[in-house]
Amino acid sequence: MSKQTTAPEFVVDVRELVSRPGAHKHVVLEAPLPELATPVARVADGTPVHVDVEIESVVEGLLVTGEVATRATLQCARCLCEFSDDLTVGVRELFALDPAGAEEEGYALLRDDRLPLDTMVRDAVVLAFPSAPLHSADCAGLCTVCGADRNLVDCGHGRQAVDPRWAALAGLGAQLDTADPTSQGPPAGPEPHPEEEDDARP
Ligand SMILES: [Zn+2]
Ligand SMILES: [Zn+2]
Repeated sequence: MSKQTTAPEFVVDVRELVSRPGAHKHVVLEAPLPELATPVARVADGTPVHVDVEIESVVEGLLVTGEVATRATLQCARCLCEFSDDLTVGVRELFALDPAGAEEEGYALLRDDRLPLDTMVRDAVVLAFPSAPLHSADCAGLCTVCGADRNLVDCGHGRQAVDPRWAALAGLGAQLDTADPTSQGPPAGPEPHPEEEDDARP
């Protein structure tokens, strides 16, 4: 984990809290945080991330409790349109006094008694991004035949059409019926691919 901080706006001076268990301080910060993105969700450049936390001094370090909020730009998993949604996520993290003790996991204070909140904020926002956003719970999705947006047009291909997920499987079946394009062996040869079994972990 990098000890560098990319967002000075999210660094809090906590000299008055360090090693004074029981002391606490309320902090409200707001600034953009660049490069918050997954394939289907992101915080647009310049969009502020709002942080409202209580910082409490405890024996091990500083306990940060509160809320992170921003506006996310999402891509609908069915019709691929972009839409925005407010995102609010609770945080509760311990920042260790001794950076060496938090080497690989957890968060730590900077050496000069400054508290870098940016990594915690980043982690919280990315974890709060939906993995399959829907612009509307009843989004009709795209036509599997012609690709038209069924929310906007009736392309005439009927609505009884296959669920897109099943359509993908049907397409896969069609591919398997033809020759295996990855095979470089003789066409008649056996083609076991034990390595290719799906071992996706839960
Ligand atoms: Zn949609
Ligand atoms: Zn169609």
